Amino acid sequence: MGWIDYGDYQDNKEEVERQIAARRERGDIFEAVQAPKGNKLATSFWGQAWQRHLEGYADYESRLPRGRSYLRQGKVYNLEIGAGEVTAEVVGSAIYDVIIKIKPLTAPHWQEIKGKCAGQVSTLLDLLSGKLGDGVLKVITDRETGLFPAPKEIKINCNCPDSAGLCKHAAAVLYGVGLKFDADPGLFFKLRAVNPEELLSLAADAVGKEPVAGSAAVISDDDIAGLFGIDMGEIPPNLDHL
Ligand SMILES: [Zn+2]
Repeated sequence: MGWIDYGDYQDNKEEVERQIAARRERGDIFEAVQAPKGNKLATSFWGQAWQRHLEGYADYESRLPRGRSYLRQGKVYNLEIGAGEVTAEVVGSAIYDVIIKIKPLTAPHWQEIKGKCAGQVSTLLDLLSGKLGDGVLKVITDRETGLFPAPKEIKINCNCPDSAGLCKHAAAVLYGVGLKFDADPGLFFKLRAVNPEELLSLAADAVGKEPVAGSAAVISDDDIAGLFGIDMGEIPPNLDHL
């Protein structure tokens, strides 16, 4: 099957590249998700947890790997993460639109997670970098009751001919989401439509130095860049490489 897809792509490669060039000429952004070199895709706590979570489902197990090579080949473009939704364009034998809808956490579910984590997450930096105690890690990554969505909560749509279930384009996008979390772990909470600061306990007291009440949990982009500097260094910024 793989070689046929590859052949299709080769046959249509020029046409697809012509379309991309035409769109760029019109001023459209067409930006590839850059995968790091090396064996691992995601490198951060949230990126890896996302990947591990999805790979643990039998529904996805056989189909996900095809997405890895697609992502590595730089075929995922314009990946955007919103509340409960991921959109991207994937280049195969045509340019396909992938829309992945993820059911938001219900209020009682979020409340339950907050209750279980109460008093155990001191700062947003700890949370976003995954520097968490075993108890919190267990709560967050629990397959049934944690923060990550189950396949039944994930609705995948791709306009390719192989759109039943998880096609390789959508699989590539799911892996791409993990890379986005590497660069900005806050996007995980955006996707789940919850405010990560609600998981913090006594954040202001714990940091203690902020002059303005309630601002202790707010960290600047520079802090994040510093924190994730090593990982970000391994992931080149998005570059137009075609
Ligand atoms: Zn598809």
